[in-house]
Amino acid sequence: MNDFLMEKQKEACGVFGIINNDDFDTARMVYYGLYALQHRGQESAGIAVKSGNTILCHKDMGLVPEVFDRVILNQLQGNVAIGHVRYSTTGDSSVSNAQPMVLRYRNGNMAIAHNGNLVNASVLRDELESQGAIFQSTNDTEVIANLISRYRVMSNDIVDTIKKVMNEIKGSYAITMITPKRLVGIRDPFGIRPLCIGKTGNSYVIASESCALDAVGAKFIRDIEPGEIVLIDEEGNLESHKSDKKEASSLCIFEHVYFARPDSNVDGVSTHMARVEAGRILAKEHPVEADIVIGAPSGGLDAALGFSRESGIPYGHGLLKNRYVGRTFIQPEQATREKGVSIKFNPIKSEVTGKRVVLIDDSIVRGTTTRQIVTMLKEAGAKEVHMRISSPPYKFPCFFGIDTSTRKQLVASYSSIEEIRELIGADSLAYLSLEGLLRTPVGSTLGFCTACFNGNYPMDVPDEVEKNSCG
Ligand code: 5GP
Ligand code: MG
Repeated sequence: MNDFLMEKQKEACGVFGIINNDDFDTARMVYYGLYALQHRGQESAGIAVKSGNTILCHKDMGLVPEVFDRVILNQLQGNVAIGHVRYSTTGDSSVSNAQPMVLRYRNGNMAIAHNGNLVNASVLRDELESQGAIFQSTNDTEVIANLISRYRVMSNDIVDTIKKVMNEIKGSYAITMITPKRLVGIRDPFGIRPLCIGKTGNSYVIASESCALDAVGAKFIRDIEPGEIVLIDEEGNLESHKSDKKEASSLCIFEHVYFARPDSNVDGVSTHMARVEAGRILAKEHPVEADIVIGAPSGGLDAALGFSRESGIPYGHGLLKNRYVGRTFIQPEQATREKGVSIKFNPIKSEVTGKRVVLIDDSIVRGTTTRQIVTMLKEAGAKEVHMRISSPPYKFPCFFGIDTSTRKQLVASYSSIEEIRELIGADSLAYLSLEGLLRTPVGSTLGFCTACFNGNYPMDVPDEVEKNSCG
């Protein structure tokens, strides 16, 4: 990988689904929805549309507006559709792994889009292959599709089929699916990745985040619950079922820290408010004397606001982020990597010169970007740079959709806070405590997965975990 941003963990994928009982353009709605979910994956994008008994699908590598144009969207005619934006958690980033996946099975055609990562996909794949199954991709979504097809043969009920599959697969999954008769949304029993339902006119929408409902003018109805299966038919009837498996809810807390867009509500909590609260608690836990609080865009901005409000230190706009530099920005040589960061970020000198700056960011993964930002601020004349991180040290790899496959990448897993401070060149460095972070999703009634901070995984994770699935 030669992308300097590829060194980071990769984001979770985004899924979207719609059943059109009005007369808008189905594929365009999905396109707008995926546009709003672009932050969850920039590697590939795809839309599958069902018309009668056929499912048309277009997917390719690239950003949503690169993959789709007017001509392609016009060809995708139909009344039920799903879409996906992907960032592979590692390994194969090829179009064969792009989603949605469209499959023929005994009952007709099916399309499936998945956000998450199965921890037992290779065991299941081996089993299926030894019984003659053929796979076209290396991603775990195809394993799910295969199991659905297999169990559907033995049952004449789709709900029963899905429940059986949910008993077999382990890991995280938020799924949108088209079956011959319905649009389906499925969330794993732990509820690790988010999924919600909205409505516009007589049409239902399912999306990873509520910001995608806003983008298509749909009204948020509710979050899909952990372990819930939602089915919507073409008459607009919505059915809800629960998986046989009951688990303690474990939403990925990193959704609130970094992944989800701040204008989304996840499981009843505003991501923006959770981040502001993180900044407030951080200011109480680790106060510092300074002249200005700035956020590292965009992840650190909301928490910087909270830090400023709590500490009374003025909030400033001290770092500009070039919004046209995507996360897939390619940096061929080590020597040009540093330049990459200066293309992406530039300090606003008039805000920081001669000042003691508190710099807030959501997390430090490797420390590379952070070091360059601190250096930049100092070169721009900042007298002091005090780094405050709105989450605890990121120490443990994620097996549920974020690629931190080797712990070596995580600077906090092998360095002390003082060593990290020295590495990034800040005058001081402090992190939000885990107790503090857990108080940030104010009003939440669900539990959280905090494994990346404390190593407490909500389920057993095998040593050799699949690396080819969607994050
Ligand atoms: P580092 O200093 O570790 O190189 O970079 C820290 C920055 O990476 C922070 O600004 C944080 O917002 C960002 N970050 C954290 N997680 C991810 C991720 O999954 N993907 C990307 N692209 N950036 C991330
Ligand atoms: Mg950031």
